[in-house]
Amino acid sequence: MLMLLCSALAIQSSVAADTSVTSAPTSKPLMNKALAATPLLAASTLAYEYPAFDQIRNEHYAPAFAEGMRLHLAEINAIANNAAKPTFENTVVALERAGQTLNRVSTIFFNQIATNTNPTLEALSTDLAPKLSAHQDVILMNAKLFKRINAIISQRDKLKLDAESNRLLDRYYTDFVRAGAKLSDSDKAKLKTINAQLASLGTKFSQNVLKETNASAVIVEHKEQLKGLSEGEISTAAAAAKAKGLDGKYLIPLMNTSGQPYLASLEDRAVRQRLQEASVNRGSHGGDFDNRDTALQLARLRAERAQLLGYPNYAAYGLEDETAKTTTAVNKMLSELAPAAVANAKNEAAELQKIIDANHGDFKLAAWDWAYYTEQLRTAKYAFDDTQLRPYFELDSVLQNGVFFAAHQLYGISFKERKDLPVYHPSVRVFEVFDADGKSMALFIADMYARDSKRGGAWMNSYVEQSTLFNKKPVIANHLNIPQPPKGEPTLLTADEVKTAFHEFGHALHGLFSQVHYPRFSGTNVPRDFVEYPSQVNEMWATWPEVLKNYAKHYKTGEVIPQALVDKITASNKFNQGFATTEYLAASLLDQRWHQLTPAQIPSDAIAFEKTALQEAGVDFAPVPPRYRSTYFSHIFGGGYSAGYYAYLWSEVLDADTVEWFKENGGLTRKNGDWFRQQLLSRGGSIDPMESFRNFRGRDPKIDPLLIRRGLK
Ligand SMILES: [Zn+2]
Repeated sequence: MLMLLCSALAIQSSVAADTSVTSAPTSKPLMNKALAATPLLAASTLAYEYPAFDQIRNEHYAPAFAEGMRLHLAEINAIANNAAKPTFENTVVALERAGQTLNRVSTIFFNQIATNTNPTLEALSTDLAPKLSAHQDVILMNAKLFKRINAIISQRDKLKLDAESNRLLDRYYTDFVRAGAKLSDSDKAKLKTINAQLASLGTKFSQNVLKETNASAVIVEHKEQLKGLSEGEISTAAAAAKAKGLDGKYLIPLMNTSGQPYLASLEDRAVRQRLQEASVNRGSHGGDFDNRDTALQLARLRAERAQLLGYPNYAAYGLEDETAKTTTAVNKMLSELAPAAVANAKNEAAELQKIIDANHGDFKLAAWDWAYYTEQLRTAKYAFDDTQLRPYFELDSVLQNGVFFAAHQLYGISFKERKDLPVYHPSVRVFEVFDADGKSMALFIADMYARDSKRGGAWMNSYVEQSTLFNKKPVIANHLNIPQPPKGEPTLLTADEVKTAFHEFGHALHGLFSQVHYPRFSGTNVPRDFVEYPSQVNEMWATWPEVLKNYAKHYKTGEVIPQALVDKITASNKFNQGFATTEYLAASLLDQRWHQLTPAQIPSDAIAFEKTALQEAGVDFAPVPPRYRSTYFSHIFGGGYSAGYYAYLWSEVLDADTVEWFKENGGLTRKNGDWFRQQLLSRGGSIDPMESFRNFRGRDPKIDPLLIRRGLK
């Protein structure tokens, strides 16, 4: 299954459902003592098989991985060499059952790498990446196994499989073919070499981004240079500097994206420029964490891999397994939207320039001015700014009276905090989830704060996936990167962070409501360009009046957010959409350009290539840099969104159309929630995703609601 990289976010490699991750046979006999000590070999005895984080130590992972791979391979060999004739049960279901130990240790390890890493785990991750890749290849290129699957496929008409089982059979067949099962032995060998290199490089890319982002935090000497920030933000910056031994100074950490939150309020233009430049130069100015060559090598190897498998380029290979299907479809959507989006951004820039000129600024709008003057324009146009909202967005209230409340109104579910379960960091909270009938159904982990040991961005992941095959209920986590305020001070969110909290919980609902038989189809195990859809839909409740009034209460006075302020927020919804759409399209187009290259077309200079690519795509507008530049674009080079960053906008077509459906049908009601849950959220990948959309909506999606929302129509 995938770790979901979300709006703000970036991460790491996909962790695996059974066969999708896995790894190489280990020849060394394991030391019994090391093995006996690891708590990872057996399922946790805690409720819902929640990981016993208090028992797991760094040294437990390596022996558990080795043993997990050994066990998995033994299971695979038993299936491949079974003397009995191939059947759906003894081959496909057996594959689905195999590798549980490895799956458990991988899931926990990769989640910890993302949320609570340390040099020992990073080193282990580097060591494991090629081994896990090789392990997967050993399985997916096993000729005997593929022969059995082929035999079952050829007699499928006689098997009378149920729909989900039929789909599982197809899925395994496709997995094997896409992994090279039909290649000659010599091509299989080439592919294995490429896969191992790709795994190592992807790990290196992600590790570089984390280290470079931490190393690029901006140090400010004097308090007056931070004019425009709130007292709370200034004390957070002072505390962050102190924690790094820079007493008396101020430290502004970088968030993942090119744009940085404090650019909206910092009055000192020189500090803004330093912050913006520190952000966009990440990974491309030399030093230990430079990612220019890593990106080039990844692009080249992916292109070679795609050609070996019979595709013109990597994007063609990747998109075939998505709902978009072809590069033509993706190019068409992106290139049709780009001109209107850039035109909108240029109009917005002209308005910002007017403010600069009116203030005798005597300079031309630059990327580091955009957010600052946009806030001024927002204040002038709608008479509010983000700092007025934050006192109403206290974290615990947003979570419990907002996110949980909306889910209760829609689906009847309720939440109770579990303080008895061990956590891997003291700020992490665990909640038990109860269904409308009061039955316990899942655990939800809320890990909301930023720290140096955590990757940037926001994402959801599963620790335990629901399936009736294993009779398992889900354990689902959400991760945000909210700056930790000094001790004793409230955590006040920005409007963006509130939206992200709702977004990630939309992914969580997909996992929590899963009602499938095979884990391969559980929850968010759907195409990448579909998976953002439920999470985007859930964002709508953040500003739904009934929900907003329930959570947006002043942290000091308890006063509900004034209606006048709510009206202003609603009125400003289309504000700055030219910028938002352009920076997103620029990143998406860049992703496609990188991945639509043949091996011969791979450039020698990543930054020059990026510049030309943006120019040719018509999205090179200096005040609006791409949301991520190539050297810190973890979604595409370090994580699972390679040739897939377009997915957010692709999914948003379904999202915007679904928001219309909710509005047409009375909004926040149990009836609406139950229908969405039943037809869509609970189905995971067990049926064709577009079919589940049609079942829910009663027709194909329409694009108009998206165009209107983004000011493109
Ligand atoms: Zn997401």
